[in-house]
Amino acid sequence: MAWMHSCRQVATLLTRSMDEPLDFVDRVRLRLHLRICGNCAQVEQQLAALKSAGDELFAQGLGDKPAPRV
Ligand SMILES: [Zn+2]
Repeated sequence: MAWMHSCRQVATLLTRSMDEPLDFVDRVRLRLHLRICGNCAQVEQQLAALKSAGDELFAQGLGDKPAPRV
């Protein structure tokens, strides 16, 4: 299935989606892949957990300072 992302592409998309919104087509392909691939679904959950943990850290530790731009 050539239209289906590979796991490597999905990992890249997942990482990128943390920083910027994905194209509609990329989002659809990502969702499709995550439905059939347990490995990537797990990676997504870990990334999401990491991100929310990071956000909390910023909110608590750097409350009165501007967050560093990445
Ligand atoms: Zn996968």
